[in-house]
Amino acid sequence: MSNLRRPLVAGNWKMHGNRAMAQQLVTALRAACQGSAVEVAVFPPALLVETAVSAAAQALTVGIQNISQHPQGAFTGELSVAMAQEAGCHWCLVGHSERRALYGESNQDVAAKFAAAQAGGVTPVLCLGETLEQREAGQTEAVVAAQLKAVTDNVGVAAVAAAVIAYEPVWAIGTGKTASPEQAQAVHAFIRAQLGVEGEVTRILYGGSVNAGNARALFSQPDIDGGLVGGASLDAQEFINVVQAAEQ
Ligand code: PEP
Repeated sequence: MSNLRRPLVAGNWKMHGNRAMAQQLVTALRAACQGSAVEVAVFPPALLVETAVSAAAQALTVGIQNISQHPQGAFTGELSVAMAQEAGCHWCLVGHSERRALYGESNQDVAAKFAAAQAGGVTPVLCLGETLEQREAGQTEAVVAAQLKAVTDNVGVAAVAAAVIAYEPVWAIGTGKTASPEQAQAVHAFIRAQLGVEGEVTRILYGGSVNAGNARALFSQPDIDGGLVGGASLDAQEFINVVQAAEQ
């Protein structure tokens, strides 16, 4: 692994938690993260970002799960990149499969959000991944390549390489069904190759039912630089165990 690819383990809380939970969970992570070789980030619901940022005390970073592609205006219910940045967000998830599937975000929407986040000083974590039907039809590479191309066509390869990519097969998210280390490695290597030489320094995380039991085998693959963790990030000890798996 390139020295520039410091392992990153990020927790996506989705729509879970409250202020007390955010305070406790981030405080527990802070102690475990101090001095770690692994970078740790959490993505709480937007209303809990400021609680998480103050509890993090800079030992870990905080991101937002979604932003608008627009800078401001009549977009009821949306949040801008500048708002996220002011609240202390270092990161923003873009293109999470739940946003694509439940809220109809297209590859073009994802590309616009990616560009807006990066222009506003918030690092995008670009989520890519195929459905089970697409995998079974042998379309995994074509789907992931098209998702990636929509963004590289918009901002260029260098901009994507400077961000973080999360490969998250949709069939493995929240299902308890993880991609095997070999399946994940194959797609990570494919994504890296799409970015050419720039890809050598790009962090590519794996997401999809990562937990303390399977993290080490996944993270030991040469092109897997850490994880985007959903369910297992809601339990402090489980998530700390995942972080520790990335240290080895
Ligand atoms: C996710 O939400 O990005 C995710 C990977 O969830 P889980 O770990 O629960 O599958």
